[in-house]
Amino acid sequence: MRSIISDYLTEALGAVQPDASGELAGYIPELAAADPDRLSTAFVMIDGQVYGAGDIDAEFTIQSISKPFVYALALADRGFDSVLAKVGVEPSGEAFNEISLESDTGRPRNPMINAGAITVHSLLGTEGLNADERVERVVDGLSAFAGRRLRTDEAVYASEMEHAHRNLAIAHMLRGHRILVEDARAVVDGYTRQCSVLVSTRDLAMMAATLANRGVNPLSGEQVVPEPVVRQVLSVMFSCGMYDAAGDWGTQVGIPAKSGVAGGLIGALPGQIGIAAFSPRLDSHGNSVRGVSLFERFSSDMGLHVMEVPATARATLRTSQVVGSGPHALRALQLQGAIGFAGAERIVRETVDTSYAENGVALDLTRVHSIDDVARRMLLEVVRRLTLDGHEVYLADPDSVMPAPDPGDDGRVTVVNSLDEAVAAQEGLSRGGSRPKGEGIDDAVAETAAVPPPR
Ligand code: GLN
Repeated sequence: MRSIISDYLTEALGAVQPDASGELAGYIPELAAADPDRLSTAFVMIDGQVYGAGDIDAEFTIQSISKPFVYALALADRGFDSVLAKVGVEPSGEAFNEISLESDTGRPRNPMINAGAITVHSLLGTEGLNADERVERVVDGLSAFAGRRLRTDEAVYASEMEHAHRNLAIAHMLRGHRILVEDARAVVDGYTRQCSVLVSTRDLAMMAATLANRGVNPLSGEQVVPEPVVRQVLSVMFSCGMYDAAGDWGTQVGIPAKSGVAGGLIGALPGQIGIAAFSPRLDSHGNSVRGVSLFERFSSDMGLHVMEVPATARATLRTSQVVGSGPHALRALQLQGAIGFAGAERIVRETVDTSYAENGVALDLTRVHSIDDVARRMLLEVVRRLTLDGHEVYLADPDSVMPAPDPGDDGRVTVVNSLDEAVAAQEGLSRGGSRPKGEGIDDAVAETAAVPPPR
């Protein structure tokens, strides 16, 4: 059976194909000579599944789409503080090649405009790398995002360098403000090589999927950059990735994105998908005309806007019931779904509001498929307080969805595979004589123990 997703992509290409509006990037002669009719798009799911339409393996230069990835590499190499000291994160509302810096600090406003990206290029690798080593770091890093070895297009690089007056002007200005501390021309040269790295639509979708997948390349499994770096990069893409069209884009399409003047466009939807489109004719912002149309379609057809409020998750607390009978009856709270802060709050509230008559209390996680870190800490605190209240607490967790289930500080929990096991354990315990509720417990401690603050 043909995939409905490939069919959908083919149809979407057909719908935007007749639009011949827009212009090729005239200021780079090699790009101005490109075939304006090329058109392709690809989806890469975060498990690496690829869907495409058009020639998704044809190569073109990455241009400004390199900016978020190189920003990620610089953050990983130098740390947030050093990078943020030199490049801000405020949308500029200006064109990508605007010659402007923050008036007081001389910092470029963000890493997506050329001034920011040229600065970020100078921050790659360990301090003191020479120009060639820096380009090597760029190519290695972009290759890791793509999951295959990439190379530069020397003709496009040379063509852009011959006309790089504007970027040179920006770099000299940065040097004047001591944001750049080395030869301005050498940095522009490296940045221009960075822009000339050849990628295909498939590569771009894979790179975007690596961001969507918390920095792990779906094919190689490599953690290319740490998770906090990915969050930073996606946020900046969302607010600044489309330059002076970022507001329109954010409201209408709502996918963290980045465009390049060769006609590429990427979007990364956290936890779901990496998307790429390629069509060389550009609008007045320097964004691919048909690329933008494709993304508008994808977003509305498939509800991909990041601010789309998800259908209210089914209640985390599925049931609260008594299992077993007699003295070893057990209160069982059955949880379900993916548990984050709001889900864990439901369990906190339930256990605060209710005083259970049963000695045994079981949290049944059989239907839970994930617990995030804050929810884990909240649930373990619930367990600890139940123990302090004199309950014998069980965690039915056959798939170990709760990592390191240690409530600490006088808390106690028995991890079992099922409620039946919990009942049996409780039975054994009550035969051996259970600890009566509340006995021997310092209630004051229970009252005052603090909830662990979310990190
Ligand atoms: N190399 C191009 C430049 O610096 C990249 C610009 C872009 O893709 N928007 O002008």
